[in-house]
Order: sequence, then structure tokens, then C-alpha cells
Amino acid sequence: MDTRHPPFHRLADLAESKLGEADRAMAQQHVSDCARCSRDLEWLSHMIELMRTDRTEAAPEHVILRAVRLFSQHQAGAQPKSADMVHRLIGVLRFDSAAAAPAFGLRVGADEATRQLLFAAEPYEIELRTSSAADGATVVGQLLGPAGPVDSADVELVGADARVQARLSDLLEFSLPAVPPGTYRLELRLDQAIAIEIPSLHLG
Ligand SMILES: [Zn+2]
Repeated sequence: MDTRHPPFHRLADLAESKLGEADRAMAQQHVSDCARCSRDLEWLSHMIELMRTDRTEAAPEHVILRAVRLFSQHQAGAQPKSADMVHRLIGVLRFDSAAAAPAFGLRVGADEATRQLLFAAEPYEIELRTSSAADGATVVGQLLGPAGPVDSADVELVGADARVQARLSDLLEFSLPAVPPGTYRLELRLDQAIAIEIPSLHLG
């Protein structure tokens, strides 16, 4: 059995039922044994569905359901809170629609300026959607993970020429004001106890 993780574009093809019989069987066998790829495939399926059906309506139901499920799964092992210690996590890019397989990228083709990104910062995930327009680049997103009850959560985007902030909603969604194109650092903070950083985010 092939124990290597299939590349994201292969999982995207699997999610879209575009693989041939042999490739599909091999990929499916790996996914059935691999929690990471299984989760990625599930997320890709959600994203494909989102791109097919969603025209940026607020909080699609499946995203909410997934958030609720992730919360309930992890609630037992909630992060310890400490006033004087911030637990820092770094978000690692796991998916970028701009770099995905051409077949997957075509799904985004109807709205070229929009880009989907997924970052993992175990046990959290951050989903981002960026779009570019004449008045700047905007970032909307959602934090998924074992947050449990959160009293305060905010997100900050810091660049050389601009710095914007937003609070997260009850569903841990956020929408940042437009910023000039450039490279930014994004930081999410939960209850002064957890900070999740995406060190380099290219916008515009
Ligand atoms: Zn795998």
C-alpha cells in the first residue's frame, strides 16, 4: 500500500470524481486509513460545494455544522487558560486555491480575484477568503477548532503600511477592512490565552 499522502490536487480530483478507476481506488484506500487526508478530503468536498453553490452568503450551513462538530469533539480537552501565559501557534498553509490543480482552479474562475486558503495550527484551522478590488484587498475567514466558550476573540492584520483589526463573531467568523496590496502578518487572539499567527500573507 502507498502510505504517502496524496497531493492536494489529487484529493481535489477525488472529491470531484475526476480520477480514473485505479487512481480513485488507490487514493480512496489511503484516505480511509489516514485521518489527515480524510479530513482534507472532507474539507475539499465542502469547499467545492461552497464554490458551486455559494455566492458569498453569510455562514453556509455546512460550515456551521462543521464548526459545531469540531467544537463538540474537542470540548473535553479544552485549552488551559492562564492570565500570564499566551500559548502561541503558527498557522501552516495547507491549501491555496491559487496554487491548486487547474481543474480545481477553474471552479474559482468565475470570480478570479477571490482566493481560498486553509491554514492548520493544530488543533485549530483557519479558513480565509481573500479578494482584491480597486479599493484594496479584503480578508474574511473563520477559526475552527476546540475553542469551547470564548469570551473574546479578535484578529489583526499587520503590514508595512496598514494595520487593521476585527472582532470574531460567535461563530468565530471575521471580516477585516480593506488594506493596500502587500505582505501581511495575521494574528488571531483568543481570550488573551492563545495567539495563532500566520506569518506571511500576500494580498492583492
Ligand atoms: Zn494521508
